Amino acid sequence: MPRLIIVQHLLNYRVLYNLILQKTKKMTNIVLFGPPGAGKGTQAEVLKVKYQLVHISTGDVFRYNIKNQTQLGTLAKSYMDKGHLVPDGVTIKMLKAEVEKNPEANGFVFDGFPRTAAQAEALAILMEEKSSQINAMVALEVDDEILVGRLLERGKTSGRADDADEAIIRERVAEYYRKTDILKDFYKAKDRYFGVNGVGTIQEITARLSEVFDRL
Ligand code: AMP
Repeated sequence: MPRLIIVQHLLNYRVLYNLILQKTKKMTNIVLFGPPGAGKGTQAEVLKVKYQLVHISTGDVFRYNIKNQTQLGTLAKSYMDKGHLVPDGVTIKMLKAEVEKNPEANGFVFDGFPRTAAQAEALAILMEEKSSQINAMVALEVDDEILVGRLLERGKTSGRADDADEAIIRERVAEYYRKTDILKDFYKAKDRYFGVNGVGTIQEITARLSEVFDRL
């Protein structure tokens, strides 16, 4: 057989092997949940290293697009500046693209997604397409007044317009209760909801979250 054809066959087998591997590889996918200011981003950065997961923050992806003045960034900014959610259509499309960028992932920590029922449904379908699932929603529980205080404090250094104004911060918290908080029921119905006290030092909270992660 000519050498080129042998190489071609080998390549085909490799593609097939990778496809099978991807289909059978067990991923651990976590939704790190909670209202704005609960500490999702901080904890996701620690947990992604500890558990070798890919961290996807939809807020970070939007901010990256705003910084780079893309069309998506301009659209997202018009909602974010008011403390409102960006529409589901664009958010879901963007999230899917971020997941697809990481075909080799052991799993994902989703931070700030899903935030609506439609997003939770879309995420379930996306995971199913990957022969995978969301293993757990782990929620950081923090009182509203502590959240507002934390965000105002963060606003002094974060450079985020949506952290700088108390009225916008309160609107973000209100938006969470209007559209997002109900998602707890979605995961409770599947026995995949875990609530964790989100008040304490970063290390204390990581330890509480790790207890849940280690049981999965
Ligand atoms: P965050 O960085 O998670 O606090 O998100 C900042 C802002 O980005 C939010 O207030 C929303 O305007 C927008 N955003 C982030 N994630 C989502 C999402 N899953 N759905 C809709 N809007 C989002």
